[in-house]
Amino acid sequence: MKSLNTKSKISYSLLAINTIPLILLGILIMFLSSGWFSNAMYGEIEVELKSVASTIITMLDTAYPGDYELRGETVYDFYKGEHSLSNDTPLIDHIKEETGLEITIFYEDVRILTTLRDLNGQRITNTAASETIRDEVLLAEESHFYDNAMINGTGYFSYYTPLYNSDNTAAGILFVGKPRENVDAAVESAVYPLLAADILCAVIIAAINFIYNKKLAQGLLKIHSFMSEVSAGNLSARLDPSVLRRGDELQEIGYSAIHMQRTLTTMIDQDSLTELLNRRSADRRLRQIIANSVKEHTPFCVAIGDIDFFKRVNDTYGHECGDLVLKNIAACLKRHMAGKGFAARWGGEEFLLVYDHMDVREAYRYLQRLNFEIHDLDSCFDGRTVRITMTFGLVPGDTDDISQLLRNADQKLYDGKAAGRDCIMC
Ligand code: GH3
Ligand code: MG
Ligand code: MG
Repeated sequence: MKSLNTKSKISYSLLAINTIPLILLGILIMFLSSGWFSNAMYGEIEVELKSVASTIITMLDTAYPGDYELRGETVYDFYKGEHSLSNDTPLIDHIKEETGLEITIFYEDVRILTTLRDLNGQRITNTAASETIRDEVLLAEESHFYDNAMINGTGYFSYYTPLYNSDNTAAGILFVGKPRENVDAAVESAVYPLLAADILCAVIIAAINFIYNKKLAQGLLKIHSFMSEVSAGNLSARLDPSVLRRGDELQEIGYSAIHMQRTLTTMIDQDSLTELLNRRSADRRLRQIIANSVKEHTPFCVAIGDIDFFKRVNDTYGHECGDLVLKNIAACLKRHMAGKGFAARWGGEEFLLVYDHMDVREAYRYLQRLNFEIHDLDSCFDGRTVRITMTFGLVPGDTDDISQLLRNADQKLYDGKAAGRDCIMC
C-alpha cells in the first residue's frame, strides 16, 4: 500500500513538474503571439484607412477643384467647388464596394454624406460627430486613428482627417472606418489554431512524460521492494533484473543495493576481527556438510583447535597483541583450509576446522602440517616477536548429530590439553 502511494506520487509529481511549465509557456506564447498578431493587424488597418482617405481627398480635389462650402438660403446644399456632394451617394457607395470600408464626409462636424446606416437601413446623415472628434480633428486640425470609435452602437477602427479649403482652414472631416468585429474575428481565426496546436503539443509531451515517468517510478518501486525485503531480514532477496538493464542512475542504485546486500550478508556471516566465518554461519555450513555426507555417503572430519596459554599472551603483551595473534592464526587457518573445507572462529581463541570429503587419517596429516606452520608463525608486535602453539581435537564425521559431533571434538581437545598441549588428539 505504501509503495503504491510512492509510485503514484513520484509519477504524478514528475508529470506536474514537466508539464505545468510547458502549459504555462504555451499560454504565454499564445498571448504574446496573439497580441503581436493583433498589433500587426491594427497597424495594417491604420495604413489601409489612411491610404483610402488620402485617395478620396485626392480624387475629390482632382475631380472637383475648389473649396467645400454650404450653399442655399433655407435648404442647404454641400458643395465641393462647383459640384454638389449632398446627393452624390453613388460616389461613396462605389468606394465602399471597392474597399469594404465605411465612408463619411462631414461639413464641419455634421455628417452630410455617409455609407453608415441605422437599424432601419437609413443613412445616418445630419447627425453630429462626437465632441472628441470635433475637438481633436476639426478644431485641432489633426488626423487621428482610433482603434475602437463607437458610431451608432458599433465599434470601428476609424481614421478621421480634416478636409481643407484653399486657405488651409478645416471645412469638414473625412471618416474612413472598418467594423471591429470583422477584425476581431480575423484575429480569433488566426489565434485559435495556435491555441489548438499548443494544447496538442502539451498533450503529446504530457503523454511522453507520463510513459517515461511511469518507467522511472517502476524502477524505483522495484528497488524499494528489494530494499524492504533485505531490511526485513531476507538476505536472499532478488532485485528484479530489469533494473540492472536500465543503463541509467537507477541501474547504479540497483547495483549499490545488491552490493549492500552482499556486504550485509558477509558481515552477518563473518567474524569482524579475523574475517573467518562466525559460529552462526559455521554451524549452518557444518549442517549442510553433514546432510551431504549422509546423502552421498562421503566422509568428513571436524577439528576444534584452541590456542595454548593465550591468556598469557594477553597478560604479557597486551590485548592488542593478542588480537594481532588471532588475526595471524586466522589467516594461516584460512590458507590451510582452502580447497579442503572451511575454518571458522568458534569462540574467543578457539577455531573450528571442517575437512570435507576427507577421512581422519588424511585430515590428521594436514593438521600436522598446520601445526608446524603455527610453530613457525611469528607475530611481531611493538618490536617483539610472539609465537604460540595450538592443541587440536579431531574426530571423524560419524554421526549426523551435530551437537554430539562437536562434543566429541571438544572432548578430544580437552584430552589434548590434559596431555600437555601442542598436539593433535584423535
Ligand atoms: P589454555 O591453554 O588452557 O587454553 O589456556 P588459555 O590461557 O588459552 O585459556 P583461557 O580460557 O584461560 O584464556 C583464554 C583467553 O583468551 C582469555 C581471553 O581474554 C582471551 N581472549 C578471548 N577472546 C579474545 C580476543 O578476541 N582478543 C584477545 N586479545 N583475547 C581474547
Ligand atoms: Mg586457550
Ligand atoms: Mg579456550
